[in-house]
Amino acid sequence: MNWPPQYPGDFTPKPDQKYWSPELETMPPSDRDRHILAKLQHQVHYVFRNSGFYQEFYKDVPVDPANLKSLEEFAQLPILTKEDIRREQVEHPPYGRFLCIEPEDIFRLHGTSGTTGRPTVFGIGKDDWDRIGEAHARILWGAGLRRDDTVMVAAVFSLYVGSWGALVGAERLGATSFPFGSGAPGQTERAVEWATMVKPTVLYGTPSYALYLAETARQMGVDPKEDFGFRFMYFSGEPGASVPATRRLIEETFGCYIVDQGTMAEMTPWMSASGCRHLDGGMHLWQDIVYTEMVDPHSKLNLPLGEEGVPVYSHTERTSQPMIRYWSGDIARWDMVDCPCGRTYPTLVAGIYGRVDDMIIVRGQNVFPSRIEDVLRGLVEFGGEFRLVLERGTGQMDRLTVQAEVLNKAFTSQEFDPAALESVRERFTAELRRAIGVSVAVELKPAGEFERTQFKARRIIDLRKP
Ligand SMILES: [Zn+2]
Repeated sequence: MNWPPQYPGDFTPKPDQKYWSPELETMPPSDRDRHILAKLQHQVHYVFRNSGFYQEFYKDVPVDPANLKSLEEFAQLPILTKEDIRREQVEHPPYGRFLCIEPEDIFRLHGTSGTTGRPTVFGIGKDDWDRIGEAHARILWGAGLRRDDTVMVAAVFSLYVGSWGALVGAERLGATSFPFGSGAPGQTERAVEWATMVKPTVLYGTPSYALYLAETARQMGVDPKEDFGFRFMYFSGEPGASVPATRRLIEETFGCYIVDQGTMAEMTPWMSASGCRHLDGGMHLWQDIVYTEMVDPHSKLNLPLGEEGVPVYSHTERTSQPMIRYWSGDIARWDMVDCPCGRTYPTLVAGIYGRVDDMIIVRGQNVFPSRIEDVLRGLVEFGGEFRLVLERGTGQMDRLTVQAEVLNKAFTSQEFDPAALESVRERFTAELRRAIGVSVAVELKPAGEFERTQFKARRIIDLRKP
């Protein structure tokens, strides 16, 4: 095997071809395991030889990192966490000893914004950036993107690698790219104007952004289904695209289909978890690009298909700053599904629906915010936004209040009057109890109460910490 792989930069399949790489995408899973093992053997040998961090990190492991014999041996390597990266980058600024290439060979610098701690720095080499483009083009081909499409990237162009990853895939595939951006004052109104004028066929952003775009369009007298020309949308950054009711709402609003995508910025090519043209929610795991294991959140041991756990990701063809067995902190369930696309990858059947860190436990039940979103969006009076207020109840029990907007048409009087809405509130409460198995408090708010976002919605208000 030649490692790292080199891809011919000018290849694209014929428009009617289903797969970018039929061989890799429809491989019998046992053959794929052999293919992945061969890639990981090179990848781990490479980091062990070139990264001072991994040399230290693998000092006492029970296997030989320079000569892995099986995926089971691979699974005995320690799991890497965000804390490990932060600590390493503080001690050896700015990249930590992850880089494995000369600093002058860094082609792109990205990072995380550090809203939850010290920012994390990513140095990406040119060869890696080309492979990221290749991987994203291949996955977007599976999502239905073709050369005659125009892709509007409606997400902020900054440190955030999501927008750039979305762009480079569309560029490599040969589609027309429209790097519109987002986040500046008045930019969503301009997005409505531009989408009406140039009629892009594809949109990339967050599910929250798509809903905000539709709301803004309607306020401007523009019909998102009639006046835009979106054929499909691909999303990352939020669970929404795999939340059934949110999914349906976006599809019906724009008259298009949608594809859920995304692992983590650190793991770019982050599209390695992605739906296809046919999958109705959930994401295939394109294992030969980034290898995903599912582990138990407590024991950290590998889980078989069918189980819920925490995805752990490994690069298989990265020479700059490779991440091996990186802990995502997300919650998902994986299984084999019989997708009409014919790909033989395992699938995160309901997408990524929670975080280990913000797991809400109400009366002994795990409650996922995405489940609450699904219920609310299925209710006709729901006004579009909600917040979850978490407080510490008696003992270690969490107390959860769902604050939900209701549409103006739900109350007949001119004024928003909670007393007149009692029957609506009771129905919201009953539907939530039926879906999540426990009672939670519900407060109704007038539509427009909560701020809309052009990026990722922050819906949890956590008052549990002092
Ligand atoms: Zn599929």
